[in-house]
Amino acid sequence: MSDILNVEEIFASKVFTLGKMKERLPKNVYKELKRIMDQGGELSLATADVVAKAMKDWAVENGATHFTHWFQPLTGITAEKHDAFVTHPDAEGRMLLEFSGKELIKGEPDASSFPSGGIRATFEARGYTVWDITSPAFLKEDATGVILCIPTAFCSYKGEALDKKTPLLRSMEAVSHQALRIVRLFGDNTAKKVTPSVGAEQEYFLIDRQKYLQRDDLIFTGRTLFGVPGPKGQEMDDHYFGTIRERVGSYMKDLNVELWKLGVTAKTQHNEVAPAQHELAPIYETANIAVDHNQLVMETMKKVAGRHGMTCLLHEKPFEGVNGSGKHDNWSLTTDTGVNMLDPGDTPNANIQFLLVLACIMKAVDTHADLLRQSASDVGNDHRLGADEAPPAIISMFLGEQLEDVVRQLVETGEADHSIQGGKLETGVSTLPDFVKDATDRNRTSPFAFTGNKFEFRMVGSSDSVADPNTTLNAIVAEAFCEAADILEKSDDFEMAVHDLIKEYMTKYRRIIFNGNGYSEEWVAEAERRGLPNIKSMVEASCALTTEKSIRLFEKFGIFTEAELRSREEILYETYTKTINIEAKTMATMARKQILPAVMKCTKTLADTVIAVREAGADASVQAETLIDISAKLAEAKNALVALEEKTAGISAIQGGKEKAFYCKDEVFTAMAALREPVDALETMVDSAAWPIPTYAELIFEV
Ligand code: ADP
Ligand code: MG
Repeated sequence: MSDILNVEEIFASKVFTLGKMKERLPKNVYKELKRIMDQGGELSLATADVVAKAMKDWAVENGATHFTHWFQPLTGITAEKHDAFVTHPDAEGRMLLEFSGKELIKGEPDASSFPSGGIRATFEARGYTVWDITSPAFLKEDATGVILCIPTAFCSYKGEALDKKTPLLRSMEAVSHQALRIVRLFGDNTAKKVTPSVGAEQEYFLIDRQKYLQRDDLIFTGRTLFGVPGPKGQEMDDHYFGTIRERVGSYMKDLNVELWKLGVTAKTQHNEVAPAQHELAPIYETANIAVDHNQLVMETMKKVAGRHGMTCLLHEKPFEGVNGSGKHDNWSLTTDTGVNMLDPGDTPNANIQFLLVLACIMKAVDTHADLLRQSASDVGNDHRLGADEAPPAIISMFLGEQLEDVVRQLVETGEADHSIQGGKLETGVSTLPDFVKDATDRNRTSPFAFTGNKFEFRMVGSSDSVADPNTTLNAIVAEAFCEAADILEKSDDFEMAVHDLIKEYMTKYRRIIFNGNGYSEEWVAEAERRGLPNIKSMVEASCALTTEKSIRLFEKFGIFTEAELRSREEILYETYTKTINIEAKTMATMARKQILPAVMKCTKTLADTVIAVREAGADASVQAETLIDISAKLAEAKNALVALEEKTAGISAIQGGKEKAFYCKDEVFTAMAALREPVDALETMVDSAAWPIPTYAELIFEV
């Protein structure tokens, strides 16, 4: 029975969990640590020494040779620098492994090569990593051996955040503080903390590694820059929730085991809409841990794919013509006494605290729609947002029938005296049970949907960190709570004041609610009429970070300084420019060195055929026409290639980060599309045996 998987046993086997700390630490040390985890505060060096030793002993028992401060710089992925536990051998040449409290708490990697957006000149290279005590340390095991990873935040010498973790932690404190003011108003004097919970559903593609290696576009950019959708795509809806293929199934099994060992609660797995597309969802957890875990999910997905002869693509749009990949960010707020502030209960019309929370979230989302849109932007997501399968680029909120009706009652009459109930679901089959339905159906096209006791932010890209969207959500909701609490704490008649405030907010911000089809043309027009922003691209979204409104918000709650925001905007422009530059160069190289030569060979073969057929006295008109058509497209492709190379060369002449990024979007990106068109046409015209790279059909149907 050795191949029975004992999930209870392997779960978190590579994590230095609270349980292990409790077991291995002296009582008072454990207590101090736990208090700081729950309530904040500073760890004394003496305590840190004790924790470090216990952590090292556990790691070494499990084969670790090195430790690393694991952090999340603004590249959007994680970074690590390994240090062995080795020290000076003693006089007799013996090695004693060591790890001090100081090494646990603080690291000092050379920060000069991480993006800082001008916050720090290269000569001011100092950066510090600081232990995030609330996220557990874990062991990473690969060809390098076993490494003890300590989740950390990453800051500059002057304390500016250089990572995605620091602002997230700051935003969690802000929303906790403001949410407590709200629950206090409703008489809760016991809660000490409110925690944002996050569940990030992760979509991904799996393709054969040998085919992947034959395409430079996939290798260098993570997406196909050329390619014609095959005769079959996703139109039969036969992949979604379909039976999982053997090869993919064995990958999923392996992936789950790896994730469980790391303490990630991998829960749901299924085939997604596009062929070769799949999804994994863990169970929700505290926001910063969910962010760390999502990074581990992405990293493990890639690593495990290699073992199965496959490559995992996390790009938002690896293939034209079929769905791209996103990451649904499920978000809610729970008190440490166990109350989910987003749970409406059975009769939301009577749940005043919930209605106030909802009104505040409506206000937050409407006021900062541009910031939310920005927080879900990355270069790959530009292909997705606003296209058919993904949420539109316009932020709106879906509440569902029941809540929308409550909002309507409140706005129109000032009172909400009932909530629509779900009723019975009758299947019409006597042997199937009837049951009480949810009060609300689902909506799949909304970017920000209320789903029972949480909001699901569906705009986030599949390759992106979920740190930014959650930092933004926490911040904007903290602001709305704060403004409501400022008013309500001063009121003489709380009942009256809260009633009026809910009505006021719901009336004022009702325009953000939309329950219809977010993919339709009519919605675009309707949203414009309502004055909702429709920000089409990442570069256009970036300036949302540094509006007066945004600076005021983030500075007020100590989440970002103006300088940090400016540097982040700058980094976004740089990232965009660099990415488009790489894509453009990859495209040009593939066209010049692979595709055009292959097509030229075809034309030579065709020309020889025309001559030979004519000499033989037969009709060569089909061959000749084909040759003419292909040659014409070839010429088009050549011209488009030259144009793209010129535009790409032009990037360096443009001054200013923002200007460069806009140039890339307007000029280079357009030139890329102009090259793709004739090349894709050629793919449909020439002999398939002559096409130099694997086709879409081969990539996504033959996994
Ligand atoms: P789907 O939207 O695909 O039907 P599920 O209902 O399974 O998905 O939930 C998706 C994600 O939402 C999961 O990661 C789940 O753990 C998470 N989730 C469920 N409840 C909450 C909550 N209260 N707060 C945050 N995330 C939640
Ligand atoms: Mg979902």
